[in-house]
Amino acid sequence: MKCPICDKVADPAYRPFCSRRCADIDLGRWLNESYVLPMPEAEEERPENPAPSGPAHRH
Ligand SMILES: [Zn+2]
Repeated sequence: MKCPICDKVADPAYRPFCSRRCADIDLGRWLNESYVLPMPEAEEERPENPAPSGPAHRH
């Protein structure tokens, strides 16, 4: 398994990341995406039906 941040070999202690730093980076990204909403005052729209977005869905 490779680190999704820097593509190095993942460390079992931090997998799927190679290091604590990369894990933090990923967490930071994730949190940023959660917090920085494009339009907080947008009309209430809840996409609660995650429709399969195509035949390229892999498991
Ligand atoms: Zn890494």
